[in-house]
Amino acid sequence: MRIAFIGLGNMGGGMAANLAAAGHEVRAFDLSADALAKARSAGCITSESAAEAAQGAEAVVTMLPAGRHVEQVYGELYGVLEPGTLLIDCSTIDVDTARRVAAEATAKGLLAVDAPVSGGIAAAAGGTLTFMVGGSEEAFSRAEPILARMGKAVIHAGGSGAGQGAKICNNMLLGATMIATCEAFALAIKLGLDPQTFYDISSVSSGQSWSMTSYAPLPGVGPKSPADNDYQGGFASALMLKDLTLAMEAAGQAGAETPMGKRAAELYREFADAGNGGLDFSAIIKTL
Ligand code: NAD
Repeated sequence: MRIAFIGLGNMGGGMAANLAAAGHEVRAFDLSADALAKARSAGCITSESAAEAAQGAEAVVTMLPAGRHVEQVYGELYGVLEPGTLLIDCSTIDVDTARRVAAEATAKGLLAVDAPVSGGIAAAAGGTLTFMVGGSEEAFSRAEPILARMGKAVIHAGGSGAGQGAKICNNMLLGATMIATCEAFALAIKLGLDPQTFYDISSVSSGQSWSMTSYAPLPGVGPKSPADNDYQGGFASALMLKDLTLAMEAAGQAGAETPMGKRAAELYREFADAGNGGLDFSAIIKTL
């Protein structure tokens, strides 16, 4: 299948490579010459513009920083896409923009899904992402086999915007539980507990969570995590802040009370503003 792939950064680079490795003809575009060179060596055919990449494509995958980039790129594509072309936006963007671009695309005779991912750069490269997909049954059934080449799970979350909704609710939960896990370790240590002993207890008790069991925020405790690598790699605090900010916007629009998410957003804002945006989000334990 001929697939256009726009946005070949940390995530998109690996994802486009996996589609090419699966035998698809991938026409790739990014504003960065470096990203284009990497895509070319991974078996993609590079293009001079998003519109050139999308010419004749049956599907277009986007992996861009934010909603405004998706709107801009979609605007560039509309003139060249054939009716029935499938648009798959894997970027993490605000729910409103996701719904608006999908409605516009549908009005132009195209099919569109929002399909944000869980999993970081290693999962993008390894083809083990989880996709949360919002869109019609028809659009989902066409997107699923393409997404399955880049991930281990593809879940239909509901109509347009439901993928983005699932993503930000999940990450709001993750941000809040990570801070709570860090607080619990900090208090346990102040109370004289050995952190490994506290881990051994909590990871099989009711305080257990993914942040504790799979991603413990202290070096040498639990399975290997970014804490063991001086908080390098993993999921950057700046990206956690981005997702929490999107969650707070969505909560405001939906009239939902999210006091824990709000506090998590404030704490990650302070942490990122202090110059720690590039550190893994578990590094917030340093402030507690
Ligand atoms: P990135 O900044 O590494 O990549 C984005 C790419 O988009 C860049 O290469 C940039 O040049 C390109 N781009 C921007 N505007 C463009 C345009 N108009 N036309 C063509 N290319 C354009 O970001 P990333 O880490 O790959 O993240 C991409 C998306 O995935 C974001 O929405 C992010 O929130 C989400 N995400 C990232 C991670 C992660 O761990 N990095 C995890 C889950 C989700």
